[in-house]
Amino acid sequence: MPRVKVSVAGDTSCSFFQRAANVAASLELLFPDQVETEIIELESRKAYKAWLPKALEKLKGGEDHTSSPIAYVDDSEYIGGCDDFLEYARTQFGGGAAGPRNGHGVGNNGSRSKVVASAKLSIDAESKSGEFDYDLVIIGGGSGGLAASKEASELGAKVALLDFVVPSPHGTKWGLGGTCVNVGCIPKKLFHHAALTGEFMQDAPDFGWDVQVGAHNWEKLVDNVRNYIKSLNFGYKVQLREKGVKYLNKLGSLIDAHTVKTVDKKGKEETISAQRIIIAVGGRPRPLDCEGGELAISSDDMFYLDSAPGKTLVVGASYVALECASFLTGFGYDTSVMVRSILLRGFDQQMADKVGEAMEKLGTKFIRGAVPRKLEKTDDGRIRVHWDEGSDVFDTVLAAVGRLADTSKLGLENVGLKTNHVGKIKATHSQTEVPSIFAIGDCVEGMLELTPVAIELGRNLAQRMFVGREDPVDLRSIPTAVFAGLEYGCVGLSEDAAREEYGDDAIEVYHTHFTPLQWTVPHHREYNVCYTKVVVLKDDDERVLGMHLLSPEAGEVIQAYGISLKYGMTFEDLRELVGIHPTIGEELCLLTEPKSSGKDAIKSGC
Ligand code: FAD
Ligand code: NDP
Repeated sequence: MPRVKVSVAGDTSCSFFQRAANVAASLELLFPDQVETEIIELESRKAYKAWLPKALEKLKGGEDHTSSPIAYVDDSEYIGGCDDFLEYARTQFGGGAAGPRNGHGVGNNGSRSKVVASAKLSIDAESKSGEFDYDLVIIGGGSGGLAASKEASELGAKVALLDFVVPSPHGTKWGLGGTCVNVGCIPKKLFHHAALTGEFMQDAPDFGWDVQVGAHNWEKLVDNVRNYIKSLNFGYKVQLREKGVKYLNKLGSLIDAHTVKTVDKKGKEETISAQRIIIAVGGRPRPLDCEGGELAISSDDMFYLDSAPGKTLVVGASYVALECASFLTGFGYDTSVMVRSILLRGFDQQMADKVGEAMEKLGTKFIRGAVPRKLEKTDDGRIRVHWDEGSDVFDTVLAAVGRLADTSKLGLENVGLKTNHVGKIKATHSQTEVPSIFAIGDCVEGMLELTPVAIELGRNLAQRMFVGREDPVDLRSIPTAVFAGLEYGCVGLSEDAAREEYGDDAIEVYHTHFTPLQWTVPHHREYNVCYTKVVVLKDDDERVLGMHLLSPEAGEVIQAYGISLKYGMTFEDLRELVGIHPTIGEELCLLTEPKSSGKDAIKSGC
C-alpha cells in the first residue's frame, strides 16, 4: 500500500475531533510505512468554521461538510466526519487503532496516546555546534529559564544561564529564581497561608483550644519568608552547578542571532556566542499611569516591606490584586480594592462575583468603577489618592494593574524581532521568527502567565532541541487557582465562554452551595458560602467543559481534574466517581441540581 497522508482537522474542545485525532495519531504510530498523519487543531468552534471553507476548496467531495472534525486523505480526497473516519481506519487498516469512548485517549491495546501536533524545530542551516562558546544561552533564570537550562544540560548540551534582577523603582531586589520564587507564587502562597492561619485561630476556641488571637507581626513574617526564599535562591545555584550549567549573574541583550552581550553589576561588558538562544525574561509590574503613580509600590515590593503596610489601597482587580488584598485583610489591615471594571477578567463572572462577595464578608472594601487620577504625599508621609468620585488617605498604595514583558532593553531590534503593546514576543511552539532564537514563559504573546506553564515550555523546548522530541506542550485544560480569602480553583471553560461558544441551549450547569464540614462547628463561619459548578455540553454525552470551585483548598481539589477534562470526562463519569467522605472534593461528585431547574442549590446534611 503506498504511504498516504491522513489529515484530521477540528475544534480542539470537540470530543469527536479528539477521538478522530487520537485514531489518526495511532495510525501513524502503528503503520509508519503506510501513514503520515496531520492533525490540524483549531482553538475554537469559531476558528474551525472560519478555517473550513478554504480547506474544502481543495477537496473532492464534502462541499456540505460543516461539523467538527473533518478528515481527508492526501490533501484531496474527502473522508468525512468522525464516524466516517473511524470506518475508514477500520476498513483500510484492519481495526488496529480503533479509538476509545469519549476520546479519553486509551487505545484498544490499553496504552494511552494523545493528540500529536508536530512542533519539530526548524533547522538553523547557518549554525553548527562547536563554532560557538555554548550550545545554548538562556537569558532569564526564572521558572522557564531554569527548567530549560537544567534539562538541556542533562541532555548533554553546553549551557549558560544569565539571570540579573534590576531593582524595582522602590529599590527592592532579590536573588536567582525569577518572579515565582522571589516576588510571586511562593511568597504570595506563604502570605496567604499566614492569613488563613489567623482564621484557623478564630476557629480554635470552638474546637476546644484555649487560644487568643493576638496581633499579626508583619516584620516576623517578612523575615521568615525572606529567609526561606534565600534558601531557595541558594538551592538553585547548587542545582545549576551540579547539572553543569554555567550561571552568570549578568544582564543579557542580543547583539545578533548568535551573540549575547553581558553586563555585570559593576558595568563590565562581555560577549558570548551560542548556537541557540532562549529568551525567558518574564515580566515586571506595569507602573501606575497617573500623576504621582510612582508613589505606589508593586508586588515586587510587597513581600519585602520592612514595616507593616497599614491602611492599603490595592489598584486592580485580577489575580495579583485580589490575592494581595485578601492576605492584607486577613492580617487585619484596612484594605480597599479599586476596581476599574470587573473582577477577574477572563474568569467565570458568576464565580468572580462570588470571590468578591466572600472577600467583602471577610472585611475587604471595594471601590467600584474607579481609577486613580492622582496620588500625592501628605505632610505626615501618607498618600492621598484622588479618583473621580472621591479621595482618601492611605499608608500604602499597591499597583496591581497587570504586567509588561521585560523585553525593552533586550536588543530585539538587532535581530529584527518585534514585540506587541505589552512587550511580548511572538513565538510558535517557542520558536521566534529568527531560527536560532526561542522564547518561553511570560514574555511570549498569548501564553498563560503561570509557573508550571513556563516550566513545561522550558523542558519541552530543551528536549525538542537536544533529543529530537517533536510534540509541543499540550496547553489544553490547564487548571488554575486564585488564592483569595476563599480560594477559587477552575479548569476548562467558564459558563460565560461555554454559552458564547455553543449557545445557551447547548449548555447545562450543575451546581451547589455547600458548607465544608470543618466550618460547621466554629460560630464565626457563615453557612453555604462555598459554591461549585460544572459546565457541560448537553449533546455531547454531557461532556464536561468547565469545573469551578470556591472553597478552602480549591486549588488542591481542582488540580487533578485538568487531566479528566483533557480526556473528555462526561458528567456521568463524574457522578460515578466514588468520593472521599467527608471532603470538599466529594462535593464535585455529588452534584445533581441543574441550574436550568431554577431551584436553590443548597446542600444540607451529609
Ligand atoms: P520569570 O519567573 O519572571 O523569570 C524571568 C527572569 O529573567 C527574572 O529573574 C529576571 O530578573 C530575569 N531577566 C529579565 N531580563 C533579563 C536580562 N536581560 N538578562 C538577565 N536576566 C534577565 N503563577 C502560578 O502558577 N501560580 C501562582 O500562584 C502565581 N502567583 C503569582 C503571584 C504574583 C504576585 C505574580 C507577579 C506572579 C504569579 N504567578 C503565579 C506567575 C508566575 O510567577 C510567572 O508565570 C512565572 O514566574 C513566569 O516564569 P518566567 O520564567 O517566564 O519568568
Ligand atoms: P492582569 O493583567 O490579569 O489584570 C490586571 C488588572 O488591573 C485588571 O483587573 C485590570 O482591570 C486592572 N487594570 C489595568 N490597568 C488599570 C488601570 N490603569 N487602572 C485601574 N485598573 C487597571 O494582571 P495581574 O497582575 O493580576 O496578573 C498577571 C498574571 O500573573 C496573571 O494573568 C496570572 O497569569 C499571573 N498570576 C497568577 C497567579 C496564580 O496563579 N494564582 C497569581 C498572580 C498572578 P480591567 O479588567 O478593567 O482591565
